[in-house]
Amino acid sequence: MKKSKFSQYDLLEIATISKKISGLLIQELEKEGIVIKLASGYNMFIKKDEIKDIKLVKKAKQAKQAAVVKISHSKNLPTISILHTGGTVAAKVDYRTGAVSAHFSPSELLSMFPELKKIANIQSNLVFQMFSEDLEPEHWSILTKQIEKEIKSGVKGIIITHGTDTMSYTAAALSFMIQDPPIPIILTGAQRSSDRASSDSALNLICSAQFIAKTNFKGVAICMHATEEDDACFIHQGTKAKKMHTSRRDSFRSINVLPIAKVHPNGDITFLRSDYNKEGKLKVNTNFEKRVAIVKMRPGFNPKELSVYDNYKGLIIEGTGLGHAPINSIDKYTKHHKELLAKLAKLSKKMPIVITSQSPYGRTNLNVYSTGRDLQSAGVISGLDMLTETAYTKLGWLLGNIKDVEKVKKEMQNNYVGEIAEVIEDRAFLY
Ligand code: GLU
Repeated sequence: MKKSKFSQYDLLEIATISKKISGLLIQELEKEGIVIKLASGYNMFIKKDEIKDIKLVKKAKQAKQAAVVKISHSKNLPTISILHTGGTVAAKVDYRTGAVSAHFSPSELLSMFPELKKIANIQSNLVFQMFSEDLEPEHWSILTKQIEKEIKSGVKGIIITHGTDTMSYTAAALSFMIQDPPIPIILTGAQRSSDRASSDSALNLICSAQFIAKTNFKGVAICMHATEEDDACFIHQGTKAKKMHTSRRDSFRSINVLPIAKVHPNGDITFLRSDYNKEGKLKVNTNFEKRVAIVKMRPGFNPKELSVYDNYKGLIIEGTGLGHAPINSIDKYTKHHKELLAKLAKLSKKMPIVITSQSPYGRTNLNVYSTGRDLQSAGVISGLDMLTETAYTKLGWLLGNIKDVEKVKKEMQNNYVGEIAEVIEDRAFLY
């Protein structure tokens, strides 16, 4: 194969030893071969040795650049900083390649979402460009440091654009790492990319900006569609929100508490809670212990599965119901269950073991059934009504900061940032 005279997305016809194949050029690997996108949308790799000839069928059109928007600074508007971490929210699909690319400069953001210009002066920064499923706790620390910088620069608020898959983890982690922030830190995302008719990007971004511009809220929260309609968003407390649906735009729900507020894109805001605003001195602490696992209980759980975690520093057990695990040996099929209780008792001597529930709503309670009482005797602690995601980030954060295991166990049940609901309101269920 000769050195390339083609550009990306040129339509090529490639003659191989056995057939002719047409497709858009994705990548030429000088030594290995060529990757093309077939009309079916699939990518195909053709080895260099198999290629006899390559013909150019059609030159690629140059992609249109996003319109450059002049960024004017209005003295009458607050300044909002948008920190981009990745995900679908500021992304567009290239229909020729199927690839999704991010557009995050202030100029690109304003050309995609011109309404933002009327709400605030927008500045933006690319912190990461990744799917949120790839984020590591180290990324939370880097993001926290960037947020601290923005706070010091005097912005009215921060919007973090983020993939939705692990947004609950990041929101909870930031809630512990940046306590009592003097400004709103709002995470938002999208389930559909910005150039699709059904995209939720614009509404989520506009509502985030309106909420920052028009209220005196301080803290970490998530702003996403309130319903399937395009008329309002909910603001969810960062430690109490969960992605409940794989694809619906109103996938995020506040669990065990009401959303903090409902925001309309025209700037109408209704607060549903008033217990959000804590005045305090900004405390930033990004230490995090990564050797913490989440283990889900299930019928058929084998206690030996826990041996992987012998050298871990903490465990979150996502139990059944009120916080239960298969620890009762009843018949010949359940003989091994008592081994689980013994294993938990052994592990809990050296690490905190916290039990949450597979049922996101409600509270774990280890005092109701004998199973719960036995788990408690084995040293397992109740995660109260903390979401599994929140309990995990809290335990990692506490272990990153406190050496004494017994102290960490106590602190897990201490309410730091409202992650434990004092009262679970009935109407919060499926709100
Ligand atoms: N799974 C990806 C993520 O969570 C993309 C989808 C999205 O942006 O929500 O980053």
